[in-house]
Amino acid sequence: MSVVGCDVGNLSCFIAVARQGGIETVANEYSDRNTPSIVSLTSKEREIGSAAKSQIISNFKNTITNFKRLIGRPFNDPFVQNEIPNLPYKVVEMPSGGVGFQVMYGGEQTVFSVEQIYAMLLTKLKVIAETNLKKPVNDVVISVPSFYSDTERRALFAASKVAGLHCLRLFNDTTAVGLAYGIYKQDLPAPEEKPRNVIFVDVGHSAMQVSAVAFNKGKLKVLGVSFDPYLGGRNFDRKMAEHFAVDFKQRYKVDVTTNKRAGIRLLTECEKLKKTLSSNSGKMTLNIECFMEDKDVSGSMTRAMFEEICADLLERVDKPLKRLVEETKLKKEDIYSVEIVGGSTRIPAVKAIITQVFGMEPSTTMNADEAVARGCALQCAMLSPTFKVRDFTVIECCPYSVSLLWKAPLEEEGNMDIFPKHHQAPFSKMLTFYRKEPFALQAKYSNPSEVAFPCPDIGSFTINNVVPTKEGEAAKVKVKVRINIHGVFSVTQASIVEKLPEAPVQVNGNNDVSMETEAEANVKPESQNGAKPQNEGQTPMDTQQNETNTEEMNSETTNQETNAEQKEQSDSVPENNGQDDGKNAENGDAKDSKKKTEKPVEKKKKTKSTDLPILHSLFMEISDTDINDMFEKEGKMIMHDKQEMEKADARNSVEEYVYDMRSKVYERFEKYISEEDRTVFVNTLQQTEDWLYEEGENEQKNVYCTKLAELKKMGDPVVRRYTEDNARPDAFNQLGAAL
Ligand code: ATP
Ligand code: MG
Repeated sequence: MSVVGCDVGNLSCFIAVARQGGIETVANEYSDRNTPSIVSLTSKEREIGSAAKSQIISNFKNTITNFKRLIGRPFNDPFVQNEIPNLPYKVVEMPSGGVGFQVMYGGEQTVFSVEQIYAMLLTKLKVIAETNLKKPVNDVVISVPSFYSDTERRALFAASKVAGLHCLRLFNDTTAVGLAYGIYKQDLPAPEEKPRNVIFVDVGHSAMQVSAVAFNKGKLKVLGVSFDPYLGGRNFDRKMAEHFAVDFKQRYKVDVTTNKRAGIRLLTECEKLKKTLSSNSGKMTLNIECFMEDKDVSGSMTRAMFEEICADLLERVDKPLKRLVEETKLKKEDIYSVEIVGGSTRIPAVKAIITQVFGMEPSTTMNADEAVARGCALQCAMLSPTFKVRDFTVIECCPYSVSLLWKAPLEEEGNMDIFPKHHQAPFSKMLTFYRKEPFALQAKYSNPSEVAFPCPDIGSFTINNVVPTKEGEAAKVKVKVRINIHGVFSVTQASIVEKLPEAPVQVNGNNDVSMETEAEANVKPESQNGAKPQNEGQTPMDTQQNETNTEEMNSETTNQETNAEQKEQSDSVPENNGQDDGKNAENGDAKDSKKKTEKPVEKKKKTKSTDLPILHSLFMEISDTDINDMFEKEGKMIMHDKQEMEKADARNSVEEYVYDMRSKVYERFEKYISEEDRTVFVNTLQQTEDWLYEEGENEQKNVYCTKLAELKKMGDPVVRRYTEDNARPDAFNQLGAAL
C-alpha cells in the first residue's frame, strides 16, 4: 500500500512519500519537486503541472490556474465573482450552481467543472507518486486550508475520488506542519507536564493561516486556528501589477487592462520582482520585451516602495495573529516558538509583523515549501495499516461553530451550538429527542460572519420512521452527530430506543437488542441549552433528495463507530485520530466519557434500539452518480493522454531515426553502404521527414511503427555490417588476451 501526502497549493503542489523508513519529497518528470497547480487543455491532450507552465501565456484561454479557491463554492459567491475578472479563462456556472470552465479541448468547446479540473491535477500527482514509488498509489492524505467549509471539503473529497484516490484524511495545512514539527522532537514535555505551545503561520499564494498547537510527548492538540482566507502572495503580485499598469500607461501609452496576454506577463514579472525584493532592498528592475504594440517596457521598485504600495495588505497580516492569541488566551510567555512556512512568509515585512506580534523572531527551521506535504505523508503513514510509524496523536479543532436547528412541535425553534468554535475534532455527540413523527435537523455555521463562505447552511438531515410508543407517547430517539476525520459535519446515526418489559430478555446476538445504562439520563446535552425532550411529533422538512449513506466520508472509521456505539451513554465521544483501529478512541481531552463507560454499571434496564434511516440534503452536494460520471470521463481522458503520449513517442522515434541515419550514412556508415543504396536510402529518409511534417503529422501509433520498420529494413543491414566489422578487432583482442 502506498503512503503519500499531497500539498495541493493554489500556486503549486508538493508530494511526499514514505520510503525506506523515512519521509521524502519526490520530484516530477521535470526533476522538480514543485509541481505547478496548472491544468492546460489543448487541441490534442491535457498538459498538467510543469508541462502546463509554458501554456500559461500561449494558451491562456484554456489554461486553468488559481482553481483551488473555486472548488466547492457557488458560482454566485461574491468571492468567485470578484475573482473572475482576474482570470484569463472563461468561468461558467454549472447546473449544480458550482463553478465550471469553458475551454477548447480536443478541438471542441467543452465545459469542465472545477472538481474535474482539480481531479486532473490530482491524477498528475498520483502519476508522479507512482513513478517514484514504482507501484500503484491509492491511499493519500491531501492538505486543505483550515478555513475550508464542509462544502469545499466535500467537493475536494469528490475530486479525489474522481482521480481514483482513496483519501484517508483531508488534513489542515497548519496541522500537517505541526505534525511534521512534533513527530521528530525528542524533547517534548511529558504527557502530564505543561504542553509546549507553538504557533504555526502559513502565508501561501492565496491565503494566510495560523494555528496554535500544544505539544506533549506523542501528542499534538490544535488549540485554535485563525486565518485571512483572502490574503496571500498573489494579492501582492496584483497590487504591483496595478502599480505598473498606471506607470506604463503614463510612460509608454499602453493600457495593459485591454490585453489579457500582457496582463499575465506583467503579473508573472511582478511575482519575480517581488521575490527579488525579499532579498534585496535596493532598486530592482522589471523588463518585458515586446509588451504591447511592439513596445519594450521596463519599471523599477525598491523594497520601501513595495511596502508602501502593499501597505493595506500588510496591515491585514497582524489581524489573524492577534485574533488567535485572543481566542486561545495564550500569553506571550506561554509561546515556545513561532514557526513560519509558505512562500509569502519570505516577505521581510510579513516576517517583521509576525516578530512584532509575538515578540520573538519567527523560526524558519521547517521547510517552508515542503512541510505541509511531509506532514500529510506522515499522517498517511499513521493511518495506513501497513506502515509502522511512531505513535503520535493528532487532535484537530473546528474552525467554526456548528449549530443544529430543528422545528419543535409547537412551532418553537430549537437551536443548539453543537460544536463550538475550536471544539476538538474528530468528535461524536449523542443527542436525545422525544418525537412522535419523523423530524428534521438543520446544520448551520453559527456565526456566518466568521465563516469564509457565503452560505451558512451545511445541510439538513431527516430522521425517518419515527413513530409513537405503544402507549401513544413520544418515542425516545437518539441521534449521533459528528465532525469526522476530514473536518466534515454529519448526522451519522439515529435510533429509536424502547424500554423492554422488566422480564429478562434473551440476548440473541442480534444488534437490535442492546444493554444500556442509566447513566445516559444524566449526560444529555439538551439539558444544557434548551434542546429539551419534546412531547409531540412534528412535520419533517421535505427537502431530502436522495438516501445516500451519510457515512460516505466516514467509511474508514467503522471501528470507531462501533466503539462509540458501545458507549452510547456518553454525550461526547472524542474519536481516535485514526492511528489504529479505535483502541485509543479516548485520546486527548476525552473529558469524562471514558470513565463513564468503564465504570461498572449497577442498575441496568433492558432496552431495544432500532436504527432509523436518515435522509440528508447537503449544500451543493455532489451525488455519487455525478462522481461516477466524472470518474469515467477522467478515465477516458487518462487513456486518451496515454495514447497521445505513445503516439508522440512513436512519431519521435521515426523523426530521430531519420536525423540519425541521414548524417551517419555519410560518416560512420559510409564504407558499409553502396553509393546507389545510399541515394535511395537518403531519398526515403527525406520523404519520410516531409511526410512527418505534412500528412503524417497526426497518425496513429502503429502507422509510425510501420514507417520505422520500413526504414530499418533498409538501414539495419548497414548498421549490422558496421557493427560486425568494428566488433572483429575487439573479439580478436579479447581472444589474444585470453591466450
Ligand atoms: P496556498 O497555500 O495559498 O494554497 P501555495 O501553497 O501554492 O498556496 P506557497 O507555495 O506556500 O503557496 O507560496 C507561494 C507564494 O509565495 C507565491 O505568491 C510566491 O510568489 C510567494 N513567494 C515565494 N517565494 C517568495 C519570496 N522569496 N519572496 C516573496 N514571496 C515569495
Ligand atoms: Mg500552501
